[in-house]
Formats: sequence, structure tokens, C-alpha cells
Amino acid sequence: MCYHPPPMGETRSDLYHGVFEWCLSGGSAAVSPRTVPPPVSIPDPLTGRKLHISTIQAGTPAICPVCSCHARGGFVSFEDDLRIAYACPTCKELVWIRGA
Ligand SMILES: [Zn+2]
Repeated sequence: MCYHPPPMGETRSDLYHGVFEWCLSGGSAAVSPRTVPPPVSIPDPLTGRKLHISTIQAGTPAICPVCSCHARGGFVSFEDDLRIAYACPTCKELVWIRGA
């Protein structure tokens, strides 16, 4: 897993507004929790308004709605918004999913 990346592994913490860490190990990309406290809010991609993060889940097997890749991504839910942001290890960005 990503928590102890091998020397050849690569990690990036500048993606996903710093909520998750992106890492490459063993030839596959994944999203893992940050080792530092994540931000309390991230900007709405449409309005720029700050959305307060409610829950963060990383390393969750999921299928990306954009690239259809099956990977271990991350999910963010918000206190005052029904949308969910999916951190896709392949797209290397947050994919916004309309909430129920
Ligand atoms: Zn994707």
C-alpha cells in the first residue's frame, strides 16, 4: 500500500486541493490519506465558494465516472452540499458527482 512507498514510488500532495495524497507504487496509482491534517474546506469548482468538508474516505475501490478506471480513489462529502467529490488516481483531479 501507499503508507510505506518503495524508493521507486512516487507521491504527490499537490493534487485534490491537498485533501489526499496521490501515490504510485507497484505500477498502479492510488489515493491515500494525507499524513498532515487535510483542509477544512475546498472551493466549489463552479462558484469558488468554500465548501466545508464533512467526511473524507481514501483508498476506496471505485469506478471513475470520467475515465471509467477501476481504482482505489478517495471520496469527499460536504456539510452544506449534496455533491460528492471523487479523487481519481488516473485523472489526478477531483471528479464532482451529483448527490442524491
Ligand atoms: Zn478518472
